[in-house]
Amino acid sequence: MKKLMFPLLIVLLLVPNFVLAQDAEAGNKSARILHKKIADSLFVLTHNNTNSVLYIDKDYALIVDTQTSAAGPDLLQYASRLSPLQPIKFVLNTHYHKDHTGGNKFFYESGATILANLGTHTNLLTSINEAQIKTLNQERTELIAQVKAEGNSERGQKLSRLLEKNVFENLEQDLEYSVLTYTGGLNWELSGESIEVKTILKSHTSEDTYVYFKNKNVLVTGDLFFSKAYPFIDLAYGGGIDGFMKSLDALLLSCDDDTMIVPGHGPIASKNDLAQYKRMIEYIYKGVSMDYLLNKSLSEVKSNKAITAQFDAQGFGKGYVSTSQFIEMLYAEADKKYSKRQK
Ligand SMILES: [Zn+2]
Repeated sequence: MKKLMFPLLIVLLLVPNFVLAQDAEAGNKSARILHKKIADSLFVLTHNNTNSVLYIDKDYALIVDTQTSAAGPDLLQYASRLSPLQPIKFVLNTHYHKDHTGGNKFFYESGATILANLGTHTNLLTSINEAQIKTLNQERTELIAQVKAEGNSERGQKLSRLLEKNVFENLEQDLEYSVLTYTGGLNWELSGESIEVKTILKSHTSEDTYVYFKNKNVLVTGDLFFSKAYPFIDLAYGGGIDGFMKSLDALLLSCDDDTMIVPGHGPIASKNDLAQYKRMIEYIYKGVSMDYLLNKSLSEVKSNKAITAQFDAQGFGKGYVSTSQFIEMLYAEADKKYSKRQK
């Protein structure tokens, strides 16, 4: 084996457009980062079907999303190689998920400023303090019950408010980097590009940001769009199907037929692909809702293959979210929406 390693390494180093590196989380498996130049000074960097976007301006470069913590160091190295003269000064996160923010600390340590929407920052903190927040919330509920039982609800409410306020002040863990936050969006005027950064509420998560490179007509959607795969709706972190549909409308409005769309996961797409994606979700959600209103159980809806057959045949259920998981999410949303009406 050892004899083979050296020539193999040379061959791999000579092959353009990808690097191989060690992926600690995957247990020493090779991590491959691919890059694609999609416009002047604009690159898509892909690892494990997840996309980051690097833009190189006159004086500095910025990157949208940083992949997992395992791939982060390689992404940094790869991006720095593509931008040898302009330092990567900014990281922009589309949302809190660790396959988009895991590499933040490596870019931060190399001198970059991390930019994220305020809600994304809150989600990042909440996700690393999940267990503690759960305990604090439980304590609060118990305290309210206790005080109410004693007939002193005013004191209970006051203490509960205090406890709520203290949750974020008493978190056990902090992020390993600082974050510059904004709310709603940003307009970023660079020497060679004008970038529109906009946040959408209650869609894939409670707050997601998309990035539009105006001059290049490139739209970076984060996980508001999984190209050629069913979407993930993070119901535990404030995501929801109604918001998801609204976010797709907003994305469609911000692009034209020539826009190049970079999804959070999957291949680069067009406005037409995005419109079809929206129709697919609408169609499946309608099917699930109809079955729900006919009092079908979750397992009955799952066995109604007609709802997803045409999309399953195109491989949509082979992405991060399986057909069964997607139906579960939509069933939970239909339950939230219609259960009151039925009673
Ligand atoms: Zn995500």
